Amino acid sequence: METTQATIAIVKEMAAAMEEHRQSLTRLDSEIGDGDHGTNMHRGFQAALERLENTDPASPSDALKAVSMALIGKVGGAAGPLYGTAFLKASGALAGKEEISAHDAAEALEVALSGVKQRGKAEAGDKTMVDALEPAVKAAKEAADSGSVADVFRAAASAAAEGAETTVPLTAKRGRASYMGERAAGHKDPGAASTHLLLDAAARTLEES
Ligand code: ADP
Ligand code: MG
Repeated sequence: METTQATIAIVKEMAAAMEEHRQSLTRLDSEIGDGDHGTNMHRGFQAALERLENTDPASPSDALKAVSMALIGKVGGAAGPLYGTAFLKASGALAGKEEISAHDAAEALEVALSGVKQRGKAEAGDKTMVDALEPAVKAAKEAADSGSVADVFRAAASAAAEGAETTVPLTAKRGRASYMGERAAGHKDPGAASTHLLLDAAARTLEES
């Protein structure tokens, strides 16, 4: 069972990961996009930390909503609204819950994925964050049947890492990278990479607590 405090700890670790990997994410985006993904994600999660400090959320759902508002407000481009939607949907799925079970966590991830797909119209194989998040949700649901919330996020993170790798040979059907045509092949999608890093940050936080 995980609480508001754990949710905030996860967001802090996500922000640290976006700081640590800012350059590598930007490098991936400069290969197939416009080279701002790391900067965007770093700025967004710094704003999320600020918002958490200022709003003092009373539940996991409130905390995720604060993150969502920060990402939507501070991250431009495609990723801000998409990640903002993911956190907003997850917040909605957890509304009214003081403690989050493994099944709750897997469900929140599933709802986040459907929000991203609805908003961005990407399917698996289009070389986007969906290629990491969709297998992550599948693994999360399987892990929720027998594991803890930490197990759910660890399973999700591992599946997201594999999913992000599968984007390397693909050409992009959505987002800026789709303008590159065949030249996008041979490069990992930055949004799929950041999805893996965020899920991994969540898993590490829960494993350490
Ligand atoms: P921008 O492309 O506007 O510069 P970012 O560089 O921050 O924004 O984010 C790019 C990432 O956003 C891509 O690597 C991809 O994973 C994701 N993305 C872009 N368009 C979509 C979409 N329609 N659906 C899902 N993910 C998308
Ligand atoms: Mg970009």
